[in-house]
Amino acid sequence: TNGGHRLDGGELAELDRRFAFHPFTALADHERNGPPMVVTGGKGAILTDAAGRDYVDAMAGLWCVNVGYGRTEIADAIADQARTLSYCHAFSSMASDKPAMLSARLIEMAPVPMSKVFFGNSGSDANDTQVKLAWYYNNVLGRPAKKKIIARERGYHGVTIVSGGLTGLPGLHAGFDLPLPFIRHAMAPRRLWEGHGLSDAEFVAKLADDLEALIAREGADTIAAFIAEPVQGAGGVIAPPEGYFAAIQPILEKHDILLIADEVICGFGRLGQMFGSSVMGMKPDMMTVAKGLTSAYFPLSGCMVSEKVWRVLAEGGSKFGPFGHGYTYSSHPIGAAAALANLDLLESDALVARAGEVGAYMQERLRAAFGDHPMVGEVRGQALIGAVEFVADRAGPAAFDPALKVAPRVVKAALDRGVIGRALPSADSIAFSPPFVIERAEIDRAVEAFRDAADQVW
Ligand code: PLP
Repeated sequence: TNGGHRLDGGELAELDRRFAFHPFTALADHERNGPPMVVTGGKGAILTDAAGRDYVDAMAGLWCVNVGYGRTEIADAIADQARTLSYCHAFSSMASDKPAMLSARLIEMAPVPMSKVFFGNSGSDANDTQVKLAWYYNNVLGRPAKKKIIARERGYHGVTIVSGGLTGLPGLHAGFDLPLPFIRHAMAPRRLWEGHGLSDAEFVAKLADDLEALIAREGADTIAAFIAEPVQGAGGVIAPPEGYFAAIQPILEKHDILLIADEVICGFGRLGQMFGSSVMGMKPDMMTVAKGLTSAYFPLSGCMVSEKVWRVLAEGGSKFGPFGHGYTYSSHPIGAAAALANLDLLESDALVARAGEVGAYMQERLRAAFGDHPMVGEVRGQALIGAVEFVADRAGPAAFDPALKVAPRVVKAALDRGVIGRALPSADSIAFSPPFVIERAEIDRAVEAFRDAADQVW
């Protein structure tokens, strides 16, 4: 309200147009046209705009509202915590109850043995922390040259200076002086382009050779860590070919390179199991979690480290003094309370199994709707993450034309039909990553709206 006057959608849009600076936005267009919609509420998989119109949110926000909107169990946990202990820092060993309980719960849930968890605020700052930990680790071990980080083309790890450098999307480097000199990118496991026409085994061998060659070029004694999402999300929803991590991991082990699993999207059930690492056979030394940790009810992330890494970090004190890293909001008690309530819901409502079941339905529906569409090159994904990629020429990868930008136009046309998806322009794809509570009828509505939208654009 504004002096008792309840602002309508047009007035809210105008405030936003004039004063808000939006992330990942064509800035001048927004300043000229304002926002495409003003959201005022959410329940389950449905968002409501200021005009009272309903939308199926087929993206769960940004791959994050896994338990759905409007969960009173989490809202109550947040309110209770704010009343009881609204804040407690974690510096100098200070502890509070909820972060302590959440740490123990995460270590117990971890897909491979993990020893400790460090909390941050976002996936980006958590990946920055992981890089600092990998550097600290090698400094403690007396290997100051072992500092480079290998990420992958099309990986998405965030947008802070370091995590933005790890991200392997040129569109996110442009204008920002990224990536950084200590970051390298290995080949993406992207079937449609890099693996076109190859069997899984041949593609895996090609990817492993690419990594071996990169390590040989750089020198293993200059490389600290390799970071990978189990399934690449924002880079196009790219699952690796069968056997990929089984082939990659021995290479990393041989060269004493730490494996960081970026579970920010896959963690907490999106692939139908609690962690993407289990689905993909990853055995990480370090794991980054965020998004689904709280289903985005509170900004919270975590860096989990194995006992092998922890023992070295813990020895660092004798060399460098007390560990000199942390955020005001590390171990925020409201965030931890939100996470605990969120994890309770995943369990009590069996939502991870549900993600697998409705996910299988979504994959089937996407393939049925788009598999033979004349402008679709590939429908991919598994469980509750999927993408449809548009190509100029279905016969092969050669004709990819980034100027086509079909996906943003399809997303806009789908929004007019009451469904929210996300364009991934770097892969000319639309992504689907709905809340785990989405109903089959809502999946039907989303897929039909997108098929209609694609036909309109076509
Ligand atoms: N890592 C992955 C795999 C992500 O998908 C994202 C965000 O989409 C991030 C890291 C960055 O997280 P945040 O946006 O919370 O900084």
